Amino acid sequence: MPVLVLNTSLQPLSVIPERRLVVLLSKQKVAFVDDAVRAVIEDGIAERRLNAEEPVIVQLLANVRVPRMILRPTRANILLRDEETCQYCGKQSRELTLDHVLPRSRGGQSTWDNLVASCRACNGRKGNRLLKDAGMHLIRQPRPLQHEYAGFFLLRYPRLREAYEAFLSSAQISVAAAH
Ligand SMILES: [Zn+2]
Repeated sequence: MPVLVLNTSLQPLSVIPERRLVVLLSKQKVAFVDDAVRAVIEDGIAERRLNAEEPVIVQLLANVRVPRMILRPTRANILLRDEETCQYCGKQSRELTLDHVLPRSRGGQSTWDNLVASCRACNGRKGNRLLKDAGMHLIRQPRPLQHEYAGFFLLRYPRLREAYEAFLSSAQISVAAAH
């Protein structure tokens, strides 16, 4: 189970493997946000059989540098960013292709801002043409994943995302109750 690391203000920072968690714990850099999970993980570490089933969320005790996960514009990541929606006609489909907005034959690169999810029909219609020549439009401008997408990578870990959302709402309730 990958481990979600939050910064001190509870924003998702990165997802790390369990072995990296062990290092952060031994250096006392992070704290668990859930005592039950902490008990399971501490037992697992003590017995050297760390393989947590449940989502693990930890929070940095001080804002230190954590290696940021580099997200590459893979097919899976582009489809996630585009919410499995054709960026030309808006059709949702599980059978999308990737389209180079500026075609490869014209020097288009496989980058976050030049790759979009496209249904087969739109991809075929556009072919090797530029958007204006094909009379087609993007429903939104493809953007690279940067800091403002801090929570994006959570889309790839539905259970962690669910756990994070549940944690956030319970954290907000306890903040509200404290006032
Ligand atoms: Zn389409």
